[in-house]
Amino acid sequence: MQKIINLTTFEHENLYDITDKIADVVREADIKNGLLNIYARGSTVGIIIQEKSDGSVKQDMLHLLRKLIPQGVWEHDKNDNNGDAHLKSGLVGPSQTIPIIDGRLGLSQWQNIFFCEFDGPRMNREIVLTIIKI
Ligand code: ZN
Repeated sequence: MQKIINLTTFEHENLYDITDKIADVVREADIKNGLLNIYARGSTVGIIIQEKSDGSVKQDMLHLLRKLIPQGVWEHDKNDNNGDAHLKSGLVGPSQTIPIIDGRLGLSQWQNIFFCEFDGPRMNREIVLTIIKI
C-alpha cells in the first residue's frame, strides 16, 4: 500500500509532528505486522524521529542544525540562496522506516515522527508512505 499525504508549512524552518496523521494511515492499512517507510519529497526537507515532550528537543534540534550549518556562506547561495536548507536536508535525510507491530506504529512512548521544513513556508509538501506487510 502506498499513500501520499500533503502538508502546508508556515515557517521558514520548523519540525512538524506528523505522528497522528501517519498512525491514521497505518490503521487504515489494517495489517498486523510489517514495515512503514516515510519519505519526504524535496531537497530542502527531511524526516526525523525524535522526542516530543515539551518541545525543547525540537528547538534544540533546530538550534544544532543552525549552529552546524549557518545561512549565507555556501556556494549554492549564488543560485537561489538556500544552500543551508539543502545541507540540513542532506544531514537529516529524506526517510525513516518504522516497524508495524500488532497493527500499530512500533514507536516507543517518547518517540514521535517529525517532518522537517528547512525552506518554507510552502503550500504543498508531499510525504510518501509505503507500507509493506510481512
Ligand atoms: Zn537551492
